[in-house]
Amino acid sequence: MTDPDVSRLLEILPVYAKQGRPALIPVLQKAQEIYGYVSQPAAAAISRALRVPLAEVYGVIEFYSLLYSQPVGKTLIHVCNDPACAVAGADGVFKRMTKTLEFHLDQDSPTREITVERAPCLGLCEHAPALLIQSPHHVIDGAYEDLVSGTSSRHRTKIGGTVSILTANCGKGHPASLEEYQQNGGYLAIQKALQVQPEAVIQEVKTSGLVGRGGAAFPTGIKWEGCAREPEYPHYLVCNADEAEPGTFKDRVIMEDDPHRILEGILIAAYAIGAEKGYMYIRGEYVYPYQVMKTALDEARKAHLIGEHILGTDFSFELELRRGAGAYICGEETALFESIEGKRGFPRVKPPFPTRKGLFGKPTVINNVETLCNIPVIIQHGAAAYRQMGTEKSPGTKLFCLSGDINQPGLYEIPFGMTLREMIFQLAGGIRNQGTFQSALVGGAAGAFASANQLDAPLSFEGLRSFNLPLGSGVITVFDDSRSMPDILLRLAHFFKEESCGKCYPCQMGTQRQLEIMERMAENRLLPGDTERLSDLAATMTDASLCGLGQTASSAISSAMRLFPHLFKIMEG
Ligand code: SF4
Repeated sequence: MTDPDVSRLLEILPVYAKQGRPALIPVLQKAQEIYGYVSQPAAAAISRALRVPLAEVYGVIEFYSLLYSQPVGKTLIHVCNDPACAVAGADGVFKRMTKTLEFHLDQDSPTREITVERAPCLGLCEHAPALLIQSPHHVIDGAYEDLVSGTSSRHRTKIGGTVSILTANCGKGHPASLEEYQQNGGYLAIQKALQVQPEAVIQEVKTSGLVGRGGAAFPTGIKWEGCAREPEYPHYLVCNADEAEPGTFKDRVIMEDDPHRILEGILIAAYAIGAEKGYMYIRGEYVYPYQVMKTALDEARKAHLIGEHILGTDFSFELELRRGAGAYICGEETALFESIEGKRGFPRVKPPFPTRKGLFGKPTVINNVETLCNIPVIIQHGAAAYRQMGTEKSPGTKLFCLSGDINQPGLYEIPFGMTLREMIFQLAGGIRNQGTFQSALVGGAAGAFASANQLDAPLSFEGLRSFNLPLGSGVITVFDDSRSMPDILLRLAHFFKEESCGKCYPCQMGTQRQLEIMERMAENRLLPGDTERLSDLAATMTDASLCGLGQTASSAISSAMRLFPHLFKIMEG
């Protein structure tokens, strides 16, 4: 007999069953939407319908932090726990909420109303301290102050900088519709691209010198060429919108304000590499951006910009939107593929690289949102014009996410080359409350700290490198001299320990040991030899970890050891 608890789920399961395992995460999300969590009967029904062993269904549920196998409150409140929100008072918010809501927090009751959780970076750093509130009929995110006062902060992200190329349609308080995007020259680049051979499009992107903006900085045109030349088909195009690096919110702002720019970049990339199917993987916490992208995709489909015979040509392309389920590691390209395939987000051993064996084992190009947004600019105006912006080795413009102790947190677009000092003190208004600059975390949690001595570092790949700083995904989180560095380092160590997927030993154990030392440091009880142990851990994780997470998990802490050795020495012993 059918368990009445899953009757609604059983009605919709046949639709998902056709897709098999790749539908696992979407159907788990659907079950959770209906019931609030994935009950045992629901998991069993899904297992049978998708022909995935029940143990593996549970393996997936337990892997992702936004999937629940036990009842949670009807309203879920996620309070961001990372540095930008911490300096803005996130701990106080969490304490106030759990104290006020204490009487609701009966952990054993399946009928309890509210669950409050600490969350990793919610990608709302410019509105810190940030919350994400999910209830059966409502999802809202934004600044704590605005949420409690009932005003939305979403449309108040400051858009700044010295140019507005990628951000031309941002900051208007609403997503640019298809009509608005087209009024400003939108979708002319895809028209132009479709008039030439895919090889010519790839050549233009290669000539532009564009490199990936997600952190790895791999030349985009070369990646496309590698995939396009693969004889095996189908080819896939994947847009990585799993933006989760603490301090990063640029992709979120573009998705919210200018979704068609991303779609046009995706279309051109798909045409260039010979893909007829693509996926856009949007971070699970980005509920509103997902809705905006869905609306834009529907608009584009109605206008024959997605689907069969796009703009009357032989080029056909279908895009599927996927929502992440709460795992930082899924920003790693191969972990993201695993997730789309309905598995836990464990990175794969490379090679083979995705251009040869990517999604579903087929040649795949995966590009980040910001990277793809550069494509229409390059194709429409030409690589030569594109190279007029920025520096010789870092052409084009870059989006920077500024947050922390600065007067004007927000998203800034500049041509590569401006200094860190100009960015912080001229564009972003300097240190909040007339404070004194102590440090800036450049490149996110996987980045490095800059001290006052490094403020003249040019913001370009080569300029930052010469100052021992990474560009990463364009994060600059500023701390004034009242901030406790040990507390910031502890939060970073905690983040990596939580987000390590556990597949390889150096990272699994290394992030745990690193956290333990940072805990001792924060409590002023470092043991003799702890700094040496930290250095050993850093070397081991960097050299022996399987993927970028473990390879960079010690980077910020190591930079702090170099810049502020007194902190470690004074406290030791
Ligand atoms: Fe997983 Fe860390 Fe190993 Fe990457 S380095 S595979 S995150 S355990």
